[in-house]
Order: sequence, then C-alpha cells, then structure tokens
Amino acid sequence: KFITFEGIDGAGKSSHIGFVADLLAARGHTVVTTREPGGTALGEQLREVLLHQKMHLETEALLMFASRREHLAQVIEPALARGDWVISDRFTDATFAYQGGGRHLSIDKLGQLETWVHPHLQPDLTLLFDVPLEVARARLDSAGSHDKFEREQADFFADVRAEYRRRATQFPARFRIIDSTKPMDEVRNALEVILSSI
Ligand code: C5P
Repeated sequence: KFITFEGIDGAGKSSHIGFVADLLAARGHTVVTTREPGGTALGEQLREVLLHQKMHLETEALLMFASRREHLAQVIEPALARGDWVISDRFTDATFAYQGGGRHLSIDKLGQLETWVHPHLQPDLTLLFDVPLEVARARLDSAGSHDKFEREQADFFADVRAEYRRRATQFPARFRIIDSTKPMDEVRNALEVILSSI
C-alpha cells in the first residue's frame, strides 16, 4: 500500500512518520519511508535546486514532476511491486497545493503532468495534517524556521491549505484530514484508528 503525508509547512506531518512506520512494521509489513521533493540521489539534487534557486513557475512544476518520475521508477514502484508499504512525505497533492493553489499554476496543466507521470497510481491513503495558519506559523517560529513563513506571504499558505482541503473533498475515498492542532497523543490515537482500517 502507498500512504502519503501532506500539509502546509508547520502542520507537523513529519513528526508522525516514524510513528506510522513503526505501527505498520509491528503489523509485519516491510515499510519504505521516503520524501518529495527528493527520495533518490537525483531527486535530492533537484530538491536543493528547487528550494534554493529562483525559477519560472512552470520550470518548478516540471522539476517537481521530473523528481517524481525518478522517485516512482527507482523507489515507489519497485517497493510496491515487492509488496512493501511505502510512506512518502509529500507526493503529487503537494504539487497541486503549492504550485497550483499557492502559486496559481493552472490545475489543468498540473493534471496533464500527473496523467503523464503516473496515469494509474494514486495513494491508497493520504493523511492531510491540517492546522490554521497561525498555529503553523507559531510552530515554525518556535522551531527557529520562521524564515519559511517570511519568504512567503500568509496568503500563499492560506491558498495552499485551501487547495489541500479542496482535494480532500474531491477525493474523499483516499483522504483523511487530521486535526493537527490536537496534542501529539491524540493525533497518534487518530492515526491508529485510521490505519486499523486499511
Ligand atoms: O515537507 P518539506 O519541509 O520537506 O518541504 C520542503 C519545502 O518545499 C517546504 O518549504 C515546502 O513549502 C516546499 N514545497 C513546495 N512545493 C512542493 C513541495 C514542497 O514549494 N510541491
């Protein structure tokens, strides 16, 4: 099975990946944990470029999908073919949310790239860690990464969040929204319940 973790910066998704991986391993699954952008040697190089270099918006989207093509070929598809479980910290929903919702690149164009790069594969489960912007901002401030928010307008994250939530409504079969304002142990309980059903 293929599980993706999504949410705006500061939503706290990454702190729960190890917990979910351990839960699945305890059920006897072999778990591959990976991330985007990144996940392969080339993908990690593209991540560095994407995070630190200014570029045309469409170039950014194309590099996201280039990184993803490599990630699918080298990591995700072989793991799923072996019967392993794959957990990815972000996948295509992030491209719709950030480049589409946040930066206003045509959702239609992104859909064409999605159809090109993975016409048949979708996550079995997408966990959307959802928090209001103020909570995300406070978390990033206390983690010393407030520069992330300062680089972007608050509107940007509002749009990213709105697009994530819109997709959750559009694809209810695979999306689960996690109220990530809740304390860690409550979030973990919610995750246990969700995972027990897949
Ligand atoms: O989730 P993670 O912290 O690894 O994401 C790294 C950065 O890449 C984040 O600041 C996020 O805003 C950005 N990103 C992006 N577009 C994507 C995926 C991630 O701008 N499609």
